[in-house]
Amino acid sequence: MNEKIKKYKLLNIKLTPQRLAILDYLEGNRMHPSVEQIYKHVSRRFPSMSYATVYNVVNTLVKHKVVKELSIDPDKKRFDPDMHTHHHMVCIKCKKIMDIDIDYSLHVPEQVLEGFTLMGNHIEFYGICAQCRGKDKD
Ligand SMILES: [Zn+2]
Ligand SMILES: [Zn+2]
Repeated sequence: MNEKIKKYKLLNIKLTPQRLAILDYLEGNRMHPSVEQIYKHVSRRFPSMSYATVYNVVNTLVKHKVVKELSIDPDKKRFDPDMHTHHHMVCIKCKKIMDIDIDYSLHVPEQVLEGFTLMGNHIEFYGICAQCRGKDKD
């Protein structure tokens, strides 16, 4: 049994070929795809797979903490298989999402926390990517 299958077995996810195709597509994927994009990709290999199936599988993966759900794109939810803490920047024109792997060590003063225990943070930067900026020039 390979490592990947072992990992998913631990999560108690029944591994159908369709689910494996989705997991394969997401593994190491840094595009932060939407369900539509995942569906477009896997339906090439599994034309009978429905959008609803892809949607359900992705949500199961989110529930099992295999994939993170991002709300940085206001148009649609995006998904990130990289579960370690990192930040994102999004292009407001093409909606490309890129990773920022910097620890900003943000400090929240005690009096603001009011006993709240901080567990993490996620910073969303937005702007215009190099490609889109290039397009603007001509
Ligand atoms: Zn862009
Ligand atoms: Zn990311």
